[in-house]
Amino acid sequence: MERFSPTLARLAVRTQTPPPATHTNCYAIGARDVLLVEPAPADPAEQEAFFAWVSALKQEGRRPVGLFVTHHHPDHIGGLVHLANTLALPVFFHEETRLRAPEVAAWRLLDDGDRVVLDGPEPLTLDVLHTPGHAAGHLCLYDAQNGDLICGDMVASEGTIVITPEDGNMAEYLRQLERLDHLAAAFAHPAHGGPIPREASIFKRFIAHRLAREAKVLASLARFPEGATNEALLPVAYDDVSASANPIPYFAERSLESHLIKLEEDGKITRSSGRSTVRVSG
Ligand SMILES: [Zn+2]
Repeated sequence: MERFSPTLARLAVRTQTPPPATHTNCYAIGARDVLLVEPAPADPAEQEAFFAWVSALKQEGRRPVGLFVTHHHPDHIGGLVHLANTLALPVFFHEETRLRAPEVAAWRLLDDGDRVVLDGPEPLTLDVLHTPGHAAGHLCLYDAQNGDLICGDMVASEGTIVITPEDGNMAEYLRQLERLDHLAAAFAHPAHGGPIPREASIFKRFIAHRLAREAKVLASLARFPEGATNEALLPVAYDDVSASANPIPYFAERSLESHLIKLEEDGKITRSSGRSTVRVSG
């Protein structure tokens, strides 16, 4: 266990998460009553580590009151049912996550603007933010008092964040990154990798990275006057992504599709019969 402050501790558990990340961070937030963020571990040995962590927290006087889920991806809810049942805790998540997760005995739905108040020497108020874009039901938790933002898979300090059209939406993702940036949290605590200080401007960097990719997709498409299929466009628009880095090409393919959907919505390209074409205005 790592303790970042009197109100925040972390346990990283091994999960089946897209490389190069190998672990998902679980957080305990609260000074006495605590929310346990991410019932992530699917592996029995890692679940045992999670239970040992909870026991250690209890010995310190912490009182777990619920499991909080940022979103439904397997590396975040791998232990959902087993952990909820064994610890007899309710699950806190968004309705869109509940619809995509296995059924649990007790839950509480949260949405944007909700507040969770945790009792302790001083009550700790957590602001709930609904931040879709990576996943429809994605939630973040913000402790404005201490400047800690639990940001799930909105950004990462290792690996990349994949936006697929099946789960996400590129335009929405960018809007939500802007919102998180405006919080100016002292630290962002991602699901993968270490805490990210405000000075790192992580949200601005992720926005810039996406917009650079979008510009590259558009410039690559301009090289195909007759339009291009995704298959033809992918190696040009993602020529910097190593083909040997499996399963990155799959993610690049889904990311490309997300970018193309946004470019079409923005009126910058047209799409028909499986081909995208740069729109010439005038
Ligand atoms: Zn995810």
